[in-house]
Amino acid sequence: MLAYIHELIDKNQGSISISSFMNAALYHKEYGYYMKKLPFGRDGDFITAPEISQLFGEIIAIWVMHTWEQLGKPPKFSLVELGPGKGTLIHDIIRVTKKYRDFFSSMAIHLVEISPSLQRMQKEKLKGLDINWHEDINNLPKQPTIFLANEFFDALPIDQFVYCNGKWYENRVIKQDNEVSFQCLILESRKKESCVPASVTQATNEKLFNGAVVEVCPVGVEILKKLEEKMVSYRGAALIIDYGYVSSPYKSTLQSVKQHKYVNSLENIGNSDITALVNFQALRDSLKHVDCEILTQREFLYLFGIKERTQALMENVGNEQKNRIFSECLRLTENMGTLFKAMLIRS
Ligand code: SAH
Repeated sequence: MLAYIHELIDKNQGSISISSFMNAALYHKEYGYYMKKLPFGRDGDFITAPEISQLFGEIIAIWVMHTWEQLGKPPKFSLVELGPGKGTLIHDIIRVTKKYRDFFSSMAIHLVEISPSLQRMQKEKLKGLDINWHEDINNLPKQPTIFLANEFFDALPIDQFVYCNGKWYENRVIKQDNEVSFQCLILESRKKESCVPASVTQATNEKLFNGAVVEVCPVGVEILKKLEEKMVSYRGAALIIDYGYVSSPYKSTLQSVKQHKYVNSLENIGNSDITALVNFQALRDSLKHVDCEILTQREFLYLFGIKERTQALMENVGNEQKNRIFSECLRLTENMGTLFKAMLIRS
């Protein structure tokens, strides 16, 4: 993997953008992190909300049914999950919603998964269920669509721009001895492809301090715009949950996790996850024709009944079970509750 990155750097006059680096580290067909191993779960490198508790999927199922009603109960609609991971969220949603005949019979489930090995895993877990798989969002059916994405946008490649004395620099990845490292490079000295996006230069108006880092995720914005197009053309909604911020912290949020511990993003390339906090403000700013609201995960879960559901699950079980259910609920609402945001979009 490192040899491949070095080659990439050599081919690009000595440096590559962080997004090219992330693209290679996460999605390279042979060595990419998501392409070769199962990163999630207690035995994996990190654990996500659907894996923590069934409560998460159950509350999202309620949101999906509520949203379907708000859309006027379309007799045919797609439920599309982006980046389903182990397939636990969709599994829980099916379990909850199959009792509601009208709803369930109008729903066609589509999973969008880039990694062939994760697709195989999902197919195994969801065997016998009527589900369609896609590598990307380009060929989804032309009908009302409800999108779900949990911890999907944080995995998409970002670029970083750094402000200093009225000028913009880009944080890029360079070769250093036998390793790689980050280096801030002045933009003017490089080719046109490295122009600072308008969304970044606009940030200058806010009187930035020297060293302020602005992160952009062009792929995330592009995907969201496609979702918006679909929602506007055929009606629909989206629920995007991820760790992120609404006002920029103006510092690097790039992080790498291996076996539940933070590690250096430039080491263990291809064997550790690399993510960045999601810039929800930038995502919201890119939407023009739909309504959008950003809540914390905590607010969202409470709004759609996590308290009531937790109480119901805790009835008629022993103390040990009770404690487990309650602590899992707290993990979702308190530990993750405010760093994680829920972006709700409606056509
Ligand atoms: N939603 C799951 C998994 C989150 S990890 C959970 O909450 O547990 C990110 C998931 O998105 C993985 O399944 C990864 O393979 C997938 N993924 C990442 N980038 C993608 C892309 N560009 N297109 C489709 N799937 C992608």
